[in-house]
Amino acid sequence: MAHRHPSRLNAEHVTHPSARRLLKAELANCTECRASGDAEALRHPDVLDSLLRGFVLKRAAQWRDRHSRYPTALYDLAPPAELRLLSAPTREAARLCVIGSRSGDRVDTTAALDELEAMTAAERRRVLDDIVDALLEGEG
Ligand SMILES: [Zn+2]
Repeated sequence: MAHRHPSRLNAEHVTHPSARRLLKAELANCTECRASGDAEALRHPDVLDSLLRGFVLKRAAQWRDRHSRYPTALYDLAPPAELRLLSAPTREAARLCVIGSRSGDRVDTTAALDELEAMTAAERRRVLDDIVDALLEGEG
């Protein structure tokens, strides 16, 4: 049954409790909780959105430079070497995530979520894996 994983998790941009629970399960490498967390994220758009927003804000902060202009798609901030690390469906989603300003207080994921909805389950899963990997980078 449900149990908790006590773990420090920063991921300050990820706010949804289920999304944070999934990240903690990944950090703890708990097969059971990872499976249920993945299933929840793939079933509930608000959980996926929370993870996607956290991903966009984290990468935008890492990838922007003083020449970055807004609004911009996350894709356009990404160094080519970083884009090559992402799966094709994640690159597609990154094209559709719009960052409104340097502070990142306006992030529009609507079009990206629509695109995710239209993807196959396997593609959606690859995007989730990429997002979770990025969010956990530097954690644990
Ligand atoms: Zn667990």
